Amino acid sequence: MTAIFPAAALYVHIPFCRSRCIYCDFNTYGGVGEAERGRYHRALLQDLNASAQLLKTYSPAADTGLQHFWMAGPRAFLNEGLKYAHGRSALKSIYFGGGTPSYAPAVWLSEILDGIKKVFPVDEAAEITFEANPGTLCPQKLYLFRQAGFNRMSLGVQSLDDKLLHKIGRIHNACEAVQAVSMARRAGFDNINLDLIYGLPGQTETVWRTTLQGIIELRPEHISCYALSVEEGTPLEKKLASGIMTLPGDDECEAMENTRDALLSANGYRQYEISNYARDGKYCIHNLIYWNNLPYLGVGAGAVSYINGWRMTRQKLPDRYAELAAGGMYVCCEGERLSLLSRWREYLMLGLRTVDGINTEYLWERFPKALHCELKEWLQSFCAELPPGLLKAEGRRLYLSQAGLRLSNEIFVRILEDGELAHIFRRHNIDALRR
Ligand code: SF4
Repeated sequence: MTAIFPAAALYVHIPFCRSRCIYCDFNTYGGVGEAERGRYHRALLQDLNASAQLLKTYSPAADTGLQHFWMAGPRAFLNEGLKYAHGRSALKSIYFGGGTPSYAPAVWLSEILDGIKKVFPVDEAAEITFEANPGTLCPQKLYLFRQAGFNRMSLGVQSLDDKLLHKIGRIHNACEAVQAVSMARRAGFDNINLDLIYGLPGQTETVWRTTLQGIIELRPEHISCYALSVEEGTPLEKKLASGIMTLPGDDECEAMENTRDALLSANGYRQYEISNYARDGKYCIHNLIYWNNLPYLGVGAGAVSYINGWRMTRQKLPDRYAELAAGGMYVCCEGERLSLLSRWREYLMLGLRTVDGINTEYLWERFPKALHCELKEWLQSFCAELPPGLLKAEGRRLYLSQAGLRLSNEIFVRILEDGELAHIFRRHNIDALRR
């Protein structure tokens, strides 16, 4: 297999969960029988084979730049190497997300991973992650996952408070979450992420602090802390509207954020993105690929791919997706080539999520020279219009300060709604020069 490949990462979507949590609006389905899930897994293999055939036709000139930085370790890869990844190498990450991939029998995931390795170039040191729910694991399953080649587990713990877990519809309790970590360690996993949510109904700063302390004692390499987001049409939204549940207020949430920052940094976890913390440089390579706007392939129901400026989305319903893939039919249902204006906005909004921010040298490489002068002026005036100290430019680095990261949503809305940006791209009629 050639070492040249147009995607830096592969995402595999497994859309099944034992049952649905009340806040979830992902493309997931609870209570689906084993026969149907098995059919979906076989269809995934067909989609992977068909995608590999399609992508084989992509063969840019050889470039060993990425390999050089990859070999120098994750930090060098983050700082310098990612810019070489654009369309030039083997997969640096494979990520099984969902849904609950760990709900599937280990042999299914193992077959899919083997299938991937047969048809795609995979870097020897690639990060290979599966998402797991503590209520679906046992020592043997974890051992089989590790033997299959997975080297990272992302565990949805969310809280270590049993009452809260029950309230939000999780199938596990705190004890199972703690056991899952020690079982994973015994199975040989030395790269574990624990997902947490704060701002849950009825949660207080004290309850959150206890969860964080318990999580830190487990010494995971990586911790993700997401603020609860109330999505339209979810059972959570209805319970809030009817008053059965209430959310903590802004002051309580701010106190939780302060506790998070203080406890995690005091225990050696570096924040490297709005919601993500790692110790010993164990950043999530897969997410770094997204945040650096690098190309990725997504397979499975509703999965999104971003390759060579095109964004493609696969059929959302698992049944329909499986039927199409099994019949060798085209599984994508939407596709658009992003305009340069959209790429500029996305590049800023994704890159500014990271604490290190954007390397502007690479930013300019990605946009036509004819635009540089006006875009630099726009950046200067955009920084100046924000309250002082939120968005900073130092040398080649453009980044949000701590205060800026907390206000990132507001700043991103301003980038999206900025009329002058649209004028600049329109004035140059530059979309004809898409790269
Ligand atoms: S386990 Fe995760 S994907 Fe499944 S329903 Fe709950 S939140 Fe959604």
